[in-house]
Amino acid sequence: MAHLDSNLAPLIASAARHLRNARGVVTVGDLLRMRPTRYLSYDSEVTELRDGEFVVLIGTIKSAHTRSMSTRKGSMLTAVLTDGHQDVDMTFFNARAHENKLLPGVRVIAGGQVGTYNHRRQLAHPGYTLLDEAAEAALPGLYPVYPAIPKLHNWNLVQAVGLVLDALGPLPDPLPAPLRSRHRLPGLGETLRMLHRPETRAEVARARERLRYEEALVLQTVLAQRRVQRAQEEAALAIAEGGPLLTAFTDRLPFTLTAGQEQVAGEIAADLASTVPMNRLLQGEVGSGKTVLALRAMLSAVDGGAQAALLAPTEVLATQHHRSITAMLGDLAEGGLLGGSEIGTRVVLLTGSQGSASRRRALADVVSGDAGIVIGTHALLQENVAFYNLGLVVVDEQHRFGVEQRDVLRGKASGTPHLLVMTATPIPRTIAMTVFGDMETSTLTELPAGRSPIQTFVVDEHRPGWLERTWARIGEECRAGRQAYVVCPRIGPGASGGESGGESGGDEEGEVDWFSDGFGQGEQAPARPEMIGVLETFEELSTEASLAGLRIGLLHGKLPTEEKDAVMRAFAAGELDVLVATTVIEVGVDVPNATVMVVRDADRFGVSQLHQLRGRVGRGGHPGLCLLATRAADGPAGERLTAVAATTDGFELAQLDLRQRREGDILGARQSGGRGRLQFLSLAHDEETIATARADAAELIAQDPDLSGHPELAGVIEEWLRREQADFLEKT
Ligand code: ADP
Ligand code: MG
Repeated sequence: MAHLDSNLAPLIASAARHLRNARGVVTVGDLLRMRPTRYLSYDSEVTELRDGEFVVLIGTIKSAHTRSMSTRKGSMLTAVLTDGHQDVDMTFFNARAHENKLLPGVRVIAGGQVGTYNHRRQLAHPGYTLLDEAAEAALPGLYPVYPAIPKLHNWNLVQAVGLVLDALGPLPDPLPAPLRSRHRLPGLGETLRMLHRPETRAEVARARERLRYEEALVLQTVLAQRRVQRAQEEAALAIAEGGPLLTAFTDRLPFTLTAGQEQVAGEIAADLASTVPMNRLLQGEVGSGKTVLALRAMLSAVDGGAQAALLAPTEVLATQHHRSITAMLGDLAEGGLLGGSEIGTRVVLLTGSQGSASRRRALADVVSGDAGIVIGTHALLQENVAFYNLGLVVVDEQHRFGVEQRDVLRGKASGTPHLLVMTATPIPRTIAMTVFGDMETSTLTELPAGRSPIQTFVVDEHRPGWLERTWARIGEECRAGRQAYVVCPRIGPGASGGESGGESGGDEEGEVDWFSDGFGQGEQAPARPEMIGVLETFEELSTEASLAGLRIGLLHGKLPTEEKDAVMRAFAAGELDVLVATTVIEVGVDVPNATVMVVRDADRFGVSQLHQLRGRVGRGGHPGLCLLATRAADGPAGERLTAVAATTDGFELAQLDLRQRREGDILGARQSGGRGRLQFLSLAHDEETIATARADAAELIAQDPDLSGHPELAGVIEEWLRREQADFLEKT
């Protein structure tokens, strides 16, 4: 009798080889978890199908003729199949193999791709099975169609699955019985039967529902176990709130925290006060006041005798954080310096391109503990960076840092440091529960008072005069004393892949998505025009009459760091009116006087990314304006832009973004069909299932932390983790 982990090869010989080669399907369980993409009934109207579509018919052979062929050896058989309603030709080039079976009067079930020959619909080399009465009575009500596998006809696959199902012994069910009955889900054996041999569409739906839940439960149980394990790692330094540095900072803060900030500050303080290391995701739109909260946490750490590290995704952002944090702290950031505050600490910056003298000084401050707050890029992860006593790690814009990198930084602490991850990319709930499912989350939903709403419009560049009007609008705004951004998806013509800021997410050009992989899936029209770059736009604007006399700057990731820094500083100081930039300005850049943004070739950016970008304007008291210029206003890309223009709700847009992606991209896994990780669960659509499974998993792990009472579930999880590891190895 076969089990789910039985090898397929002895059961289905040659099919097993193709399945393994194409999909990595090796065991019975692998095969039975292949998801039919659709199901056919047997009554298709063949004339209504397109060539190449798969069809299954049950009928009687009406006539059969063999004739020799002029162009090749052998003979050809044409058998006419009738289902009582329509006639279809079945043709075979090796007549000998079939002419003794396909005799007039026999009943068959046949399936294959529809083609056209001499104006007649035909099935060339279809699969078929002769039917006796009993066999016909045993046919499933619907016929499954599986994802295409090279060299393996769907017909043979269905037969292979049938053989395997028939050989199957009783199946242990990974779903605990109480959960199964709570949610009224079918058992595994029944589920697999309904998936592969359904009588009705309702059975298919029931099977899928059960398998969706099972996937969600496995995923959530893994995460629940991780959370419990982390809580058991005693390690972190317990940091009490209300030390002198934090108090002094609070006293001099020129504003009061919003209610939302207060609440999140409380959540963070409670985490820090525990020896269970904090693992918290703080999400909130750009400008919602995350950095202030992170700084409070860092000051608490310093008060508690530890150091805090802030990791930023780019040098521009690290530098900006360093500047703004130093400014916010004032003399509190001059600890140990003459004239500095008694209770103050030192804030140092560590980046890759920093000069060796200043780097050496910074490293010394970090290792001696004189620097309480260390801000940097990936450079912080390097081996030669040693901390005196690292107690808190803040990561700004999580998506740029992998789990492994975070672990490196954790490894630099004697215990496990507390971890706070900040992201301005709104994260749909399903993603928060899965990709970030082992973290606690805090969300800032309101912006501090005094922010003006951003208005967004789509500018169709093909309409005469629209782009000129756009530049004129910038001119007006700048002459009124405001500033403007012009964002392009890449640096310039001839720039190699890595240099483009838009689609390929160059090294230094911030890419916003937490599961980045380009955007606009499936819309990649082959003949898209080349993307507009900042270099050409900069030239264009320099001679643009409506901008005459304005000071225009240029910023992109390939500029030397000092130059980038100088440009950014000049723009922040109001010494530049217009900044032409790649997405390097995307995350965290804060120039309150900037009120207009033009995005060129806006269709080349993802929905969330555009939302992120426009968060750069309207940060001061003046209303913000965002103009999405595009040469693709018609079609799906244009619709996406219209959606961005229609709402300022980042969560709504993130949800839209999510719907447009394939699940595999989201989990970062390469979906490889039969062995892919999520076959049934959709992160875009199954929020309720995920939430239910999350609660169930927490309950389960609380009662049975090592799953010793649930060996089947434990087995499935072990398999899952093994694959996750394999995926990871594949990626690196
Ligand atoms: P984020 O990191 O979420 O983008 P920041 O913490 O940088 O947001 O805050 C954006 C701006 O708003 C900063 O200039 C900050 O000083 C200011 N700010 C933060 N919280 C408040 C508040 N409660 N009231 C007024 N201004 C605030
Ligand atoms: Mg910020």
